[in-house]
Amino acid sequence: MKANIIEGSYYEMGFKVGSQIKRFFKPPPCPPEKLEFSRQCKEIARQYIPDLLEEIKGFCDGGNYNLESMEAFLLALGFEFFHTPEGGCTVFAIGSKLTESGFPIFARNYDWDESFQDLCGISFIHPEGKLKSITFSDHMIGIYGGKNETGLTIAILLAENYTGKWQPGIRMILSTRWILDNCRTTEEAVSFLEQVPHVRGQIFMIADTDDNIARVETAPPRIAVTYSKNDYLYTTNHYQVKSFEQYSDPSLIPPNSVERFNKVKNFLENRKSKIALKDIIEFLKSHEEGVCNHFEFEGRKCGTIYSWVTEIDKTSDPIHLMATIGPPCKFNYEKYTFS
Ligand SMILES: [Zn+2]
Repeated sequence: MKANIIEGSYYEMGFKVGSQIKRFFKPPPCPPEKLEFSRQCKEIARQYIPDLLEEIKGFCDGGNYNLESMEAFLLALGFEFFHTPEGGCTVFAIGSKLTESGFPIFARNYDWDESFQDLCGISFIHPEGKLKSITFSDHMIGIYGGKNETGLTIAILLAENYTGKWQPGIRMILSTRWILDNCRTTEEAVSFLEQVPHVRGQIFMIADTDDNIARVETAPPRIAVTYSKNDYLYTTNHYQVKSFEQYSDPSLIPPNSVERFNKVKNFLENRKSKIALKDIIEFLKSHEEGVCNHFEFEGRKCGTIYSWVTEIDKTSDPIHLMATIGPPCKFNYEKYTFS
């Protein structure tokens, strides 16, 4: 997996990435309704994540991109594709009292169209005056998760059974980026997520060095937060909260989301002793007992395309985590550090 270091002011970071990718990336055409939706999202972004708008501006200047088209791409990506059944992902976090090392552990398998695997990369991000982090993404500015220098760790998933319409708001990959740049605790991250409007149904998992684990489920305009102290929480791609029934349709839950959910449940509930990092890695890699998976959707190969896991210890300098550069069943976990 490619590792890119991005440092400086938000404008400078955007400019650098724009300069790097201008030769091989062009944003797709933007229909008028998406442009209008993006304008509404931008007004909200101005209020909640103004630094990231500055980064988008730098990105456009660095890559010679049209600002409004790129804002539509980044602020409203996915607006035209409501359901994405190829989306997967499995995430869980375990409190320190249950782990062999005595530290909380956070684990994430990322499942998507396998043709995106080469685009996925690790970025070491350090915005001037903000927190450093190790992050994962397959495109610019927004991220799917990672860990910052305070140990705060986060990952996002789509809620595939959400039936509501897109709402003007902040896309989850931008919320996640803002959280790692700015927040030190799970409570701070949850507080941010409780304030911002969200665009669609999504699920955030968050954990910190203080053993505070949260699962945040959004079904705009609703949000539900589940906390666990010293225990564990897990999620796949469907809601756990019963109060979201009016915003969801059980028939939209991908069968493998339920299958992976039950595997994590069994793994965590049937443990005979404290859980070691190596046990979690085996679980993330395994097809039979664990949650690595591969399938076809509309003729395209989909499945787990990368994986990461981390102990959230008290000394997160350098920031460190273990990740695979491809499917965990085929690639070894390697340590990545950013100091
Ligand atoms: Zn596999």
